[in-house]
Amino acid sequence: MTTLKIQNVSKIYQLKNGVKFYALKDINLEFPNNGLVSIVGKSGSGKSTLLNLIAMLDTPSEGEIYLKERSYSSIKRKERPEIYQNDIGIVFQNFNLIEDKSVLYNVELPLLIKGEKKNRAKELASQALMKVGLNEEQFDKPANELSGGEQQRVAIARAIVNKPKVLLCDEPTGHLDISNSIKVMEILKKISKERLVILVSHNLPLVKQYSDEIITLKDGQVIGKESIKKLRTLEEETNLKTKHSASWTKDVFVSNFRKRLKRNIFTSLCLVVSFTMFILVMGFINGKDSAIRNTCYQQLDFGSGSISQEEKVSGTGVLSLTKSIRPNYEELKKNEKIDKLFEICPNFSTIIYQNLSFEYDGTPLNNLNYNPIYSFKGNSIDKSLIIDGYIPKEDTLKEVVINQFARQTIKKKIGKDPLGEYLNLKVYFTNTYITEYEEYIQDNFVMEKQIRVVGVVKELKYLNSEKIYYSNVAMEDQFHSSLLPNLSTYFGYDISWYDYVMNSSDISMITSYSYNLFLKDYLDKSIVIDPNFNFGKSLNFTSESLLVSKSLQDFMDVAQYGVILFMIIASIGSILILGIMSFVSYSEDRKLSAIFTFLGARDGDIFDIYLGESMLSGLISFVVSLGVSIGFEHLLNYIIFNVVEVKNIISIPFLSFLGVRFLYPIVLLAIIGLIVFLATSIPISFSKLKKVKEELQSL
Ligand code: ADP
Ligand code: MG
Repeated sequence: MTTLKIQNVSKIYQLKNGVKFYALKDINLEFPNNGLVSIVGKSGSGKSTLLNLIAMLDTPSEGEIYLKERSYSSIKRKERPEIYQNDIGIVFQNFNLIEDKSVLYNVELPLLIKGEKKNRAKELASQALMKVGLNEEQFDKPANELSGGEQQRVAIARAIVNKPKVLLCDEPTGHLDISNSIKVMEILKKISKERLVILVSHNLPLVKQYSDEIITLKDGQVIGKESIKKLRTLEEETNLKTKHSASWTKDVFVSNFRKRLKRNIFTSLCLVVSFTMFILVMGFINGKDSAIRNTCYQQLDFGSGSISQEEKVSGTGVLSLTKSIRPNYEELKKNEKIDKLFEICPNFSTIIYQNLSFEYDGTPLNNLNYNPIYSFKGNSIDKSLIIDGYIPKEDTLKEVVINQFARQTIKKKIGKDPLGEYLNLKVYFTNTYITEYEEYIQDNFVMEKQIRVVGVVKELKYLNSEKIYYSNVAMEDQFHSSLLPNLSTYFGYDISWYDYVMNSSDISMITSYSYNLFLKDYLDKSIVIDPNFNFGKSLNFTSESLLVSKSLQDFMDVAQYGVILFMIIASIGSILILGIMSFVSYSEDRKLSAIFTFLGARDGDIFDIYLGESMLSGLISFVVSLGVSIGFEHLLNYIIFNVVEVKNIISIPFLSFLGVRFLYPIVLLAIIGLIVFLATSIPISFSKLKKVKEELQSL
C-alpha cells in the first residue's frame, strides 16, 4: 500500500504583473512506504514548493495529495496537529531548533506536545539522540552550543522521535561541510529502512550514492524518475495514540516569562498600579459612608437640631412661595416619631444671640458659639467624647463644656488653658410689645453670669467651629424665673420670658422661632442620618451636625468621581500595555510558534502559552496588589485621618464580602482573570501569523 501519493498537483503564483506562474505543474507521484527518495533539480525548479505541499505547510492550487489514502483537502486544520504528531516529521536546512533550550528538551518536545509523560519522553528522546550518534554529555547543552552537523542530527532525532511514517528533509546538508553531510546522509539512509524519507537536495553526487530513488524536477515539472534499488514494502504499523495534554505549555510559558523577565516585571508593575488603584477605589466607595457616619457621631450635639414648618404663601408649582413658620407644639407632640425619639423644647436662640458676649478677666472673646444640648444627665450626650475635665454634674448654667477648637482659640487669646477657668457671659435682649390700643410696652432681658469651663470635648476637625455647650434644661429654668415686669404689670399677672417664647407662635413678628429637638437617647443617632429620615408634613429638621455630615458626604462624592475617573484611565492604560506586550511577545516568537506547529502543537496550545505568560503576570500582580493595597489602605487612612479626622475612609472588605468570608479576593481574581484574558486574546487574535512556511525557511 502506498502511504503517500501526489495526483495532478500544481502550484500557481499570481505575479505582480498579473501573470500566472507555475511553481509546480501537474505533478503525479507515488511514493514507496520506505526508502530514501531524493528530489533533485536546479535552484528554483520547485523542490521546496513540492516538499512544503507534502508537509502541509502550503496548499496546492490544483490537484490532491493523499496520505494513507486520505486526501489533504479533507483534513481539517484542527486535525493537522495529529498528522504532525504521528505521520510527518520535518527537517530543515536551518535546523529550526529552539536554540536556548537543551538538546534533550528539543527532542522531548514533540513527545511532550503529544502528551507523553516527562520520564518516558526523556527516555525516548535519549534513544533517538543516541540513534543519530550524539552522546549524553551533549544532552544538557543549549542547542546553539553544538556544531552545525550536530544541530542537524538533533533536528533529525527530533523529527523521528515520534516514529513518523514520512520524514521530509529540505536541503538538510545545505549548511554543512562534506564530512558532516556524509554523517547526516548515513543517518537518513539508516532510518529510511523503517520509513519513507524524502530528501530535497542539489548535491547530486551525495544523492546518487545514498538514494533508493531519484526524482528530477525542472521548471516545476517532473522530468525524470530513476529507481536505483528495488524497495521492500514495509508492513503498515499504526501509531500509538497518546492522550492530548497541554502540560508542556506550562513549562514553555514559565520559561518565556523568565526569558522576558524585565518586560514582564514592567507589565506586572503597571498592572499592580491599576489593580491597587481598583482595590483602593472600591475600598473607598465601600468605606466612605460608614466612615463619615461614624465620624459625624463624634459631635457632641449630634442628634440635636431645630424643627420648623414650611407653609405655602402663594402660587402653585415651581412658582409657589413658601415661608418657614413655627410648628404647633401640640401637633409636634402628636407626631409619633418625634414624641418617641425627641425632647421638644422652645428655641431661645433668637433671644440668646441677640446680644451675646463672653469675656475673660476683661479680655473679650469673640466667635464663640453658644450651643444647647438637652442636659448633661442620662443618655442625652455621648460622654465618651469628653477628652479633658468632666461632664457638669448637674443641670446648671454655671458649668459648661467647650470643644477643643474653642479651647485653642481661647488659650491663644488669654494665654492659658481655659479648662477650670471662669468666663463672663452676657446676654441682653430688648422686646417691644404693641398692645391692642397701640401702646408700646418694652421689657429687657438681661443675663450676666460667671460660667466655668469644666470639660473639653473632642469634635470633628472637618468644618470645625468653636463651641460652648450649655444645658438647655437649665436655660429653660432661667427663662422660667425671669419675668417680663412691664408686660406682667400690663396684664396684671406674672408673665415670664419662657411664657413669652412659648406663646410667640401666635405673634407674627416672631414666627421664625422654631422648636429645638433633642434625641432622648444619643444611641439613636443613626436615625438622624438615615437618608429617609423625615417627619412628614413639611416639617424640616436642621442640625449643624447634619449639615456638616452632608457637606462631608458631598465632598467625598465628588472625590469618588475623581478617583473613579483616575482609576478608569489607569486601567485602560495598563490593559493597553498588557495587550501590546502580549502582542509583541507573540509576534517576536512567531518562529517558535511555527516550530511548535510542525512538531504537532495545536493552535490552542500556542495561544495558551501567551495567555499563560499574561496570566502569570496578572496573578503575580494580583498577589502583589493585595499586599500593596493593604499597605496603602493603612497609609491613606492615616493621612486622611490627620487631615479631616475621618477614620478608615478606605475599607477593603477582604475578610468578609456580602457576608461570605474571602469572597472578595475570589471575585477580584475572577474579574482580573477576565480582564487579562481579554487584554491578551484580543490583540493576539489580531496578530496574523506570517505563513509558518516562511518563518521556518527564513534564515
Ligand atoms: P527550489 O527548487 O530552489 O527549492 P522553490 O520551490 O523554492 O525552488 O521555488 C520554485 C519557484 O517558485 C521559484 O521560481 C520561486 O521563485 C517561485 N516561488 C516560490 N515561492 C513563491 C511565492 N510566494 N510567490 C511567487 N513565486 C514563488
Ligand atoms: Mg529550496
